Amino acid sequence: YVTSSNLPTIYALGTPAGTKSAIAILRVSGSQAPHIYESLTKQRITKLKPRFAHVDQIYSINNNLQSEPRSLLDSPLVLYFPKPNSFTGEDMIEFHLHGGKAIIDAVIKSISNLHDPNNLINIRYSEPGEFSRRAFQNGKFDLTEVESINDLINAETETQRKYVVSSFNGKNKMIFTQWRTNLVSAMAKLTALIDFADDNEMENDSYLLNEIETEVVRMKEQIIKFTDQLNKSKILIDGIKLVLFGSPNVGKSSILNCITSEELAIVSDIPGTTRDSINSVIDINGYKVVIIDTAGIRNKSDDPIEKIGIRKAKQKFQEGDICLLIIDSTNASIDSTLLEMVQSQDKDNMKQLVVVLNKTDLVSSQELTQIKNQIENSLSSISPLITTVSCKTQDGIQQLLSMLTKQCRDLTTTQEGVEPIIMSQRVNDILTNDILYGIDEFLRNKESQNRDLIILSESLKYSIDGIGKILGDAVGLDEVLNVVFSKFCIGK
Ligand code: GDP
Ligand code: ZN
Repeated sequence: YVTSSNLPTIYALGTPAGTKSAIAILRVSGSQAPHIYESLTKQRITKLKPRFAHVDQIYSINNNLQSEPRSLLDSPLVLYFPKPNSFTGEDMIEFHLHGGKAIIDAVIKSISNLHDPNNLINIRYSEPGEFSRRAFQNGKFDLTEVESINDLINAETETQRKYVVSSFNGKNKMIFTQWRTNLVSAMAKLTALIDFADDNEMENDSYLLNEIETEVVRMKEQIIKFTDQLNKSKILIDGIKLVLFGSPNVGKSSILNCITSEELAIVSDIPGTTRDSINSVIDINGYKVVIIDTAGIRNKSDDPIEKIGIRKAKQKFQEGDICLLIIDSTNASIDSTLLEMVQSQDKDNMKQLVVVLNKTDLVSSQELTQIKNQIENSLSSISPLITTVSCKTQDGIQQLLSMLTKQCRDLTTTQEGVEPIIMSQRVNDILTNDILYGIDEFLRNKESQNRDLIILSESLKYSIDGIGKILGDAVGLDEVLNVVFSKFCIGK
């Protein structure tokens, strides 16, 4: 890497740009940070006690062509973090400005006027992710931690926040480091075998080789379990898809309204939705849920428009993680098309099905019990959860929501009840394409007729390098880094 002192000094707003706010924080990082402070305030940097807040006055800095006098710009709070004890590991200064656009613009203009290539004063606005990139390059964080900073900032719901935080606390880093230690030790044993192959008896060889294999198999199990946890987190980020379907007029839209008015809407409308299905994204007890309201399904196969509607609804049903089959209590028959749809489910891709009996305000409790039994009988092959609601009186909506919360939890925990892990797709890809690939190559070659110890060792090396890519300490890393930091926005 280029040493810190050769890098340009960067600055950026750490708070959102383009909105009015009480405070705007401008961060500066690099060897010129003290110079920027001294130029803006006409004070010496030595005046600042590290990591203490100071109130200072800052003045405009003109470029060479301007001859106006310097004017007072703002009285910000200033914090100084001398290297290496800062976020980036470089000298850093934070200016807590008053958050008006004119102030921010004037301060930024002044700092940019300090840039002077002739005097080797290299100062520029930061690129996306550049602060975090420097933190990483100066050993403040490994790549997984840096990526979690990004995930943390992007977290919209409580569950996302919770699982990202545990990643940020270095838990995953410890796991990866342990895997690497184990793989390196297996590879060392293998190297010993290669070096002393001629001196040893064949039986000894195969004994040691089996021992290595046992270890590798154990590792593989752990890694697969970890990828399961990662895969479970995908729907935490993308949202759990909840499909509402049922015959026309059973109350699909009404239930959608009931649920969305109870819960916090993350996005009210997703652009690009069609006439016959509306998606809304809400937060149900910490879970991001995308609700898909389908057009009513009616079994009138002669009507071409209806046919399209049915096909689309079937498609939506397939895409859903949880499906609510809504039935009108006053007309509690299940349409044959619907019945077929839920009963002909792919065994590997079973939906969590909830039958919702709506409009309970229109029937007596005896009638309701009878209807429930009837539904249970006709769906006995899949024994779904059944619940009752009235959109009119709001009766049962809370029970429905807690039922949905439980299903969200089930969907995001593994079969052993292990909680999800949130990490980037990059990590997920490396786990499969590098680490597990290398392990599988090892196991395959070990069984091969003319096995070659060198190839076995190369396979393990492949896995070990994969871990290096994840943590960010492998060779040839620039490509990896560009992928990671391009996802960041400016000021991080
Ligand atoms: P969709 O076609 O399945 O989306 O059904 P809608 O949500 O548009 O509802 C159809 C009709 O049923 C509307 O007139 C609603 O007001 C009415 N409705 C929906 N839910 C209830 C309910 O719980 N009780 C009563 N009494 N009427 C309801
Ligand atoms: Zn509707």
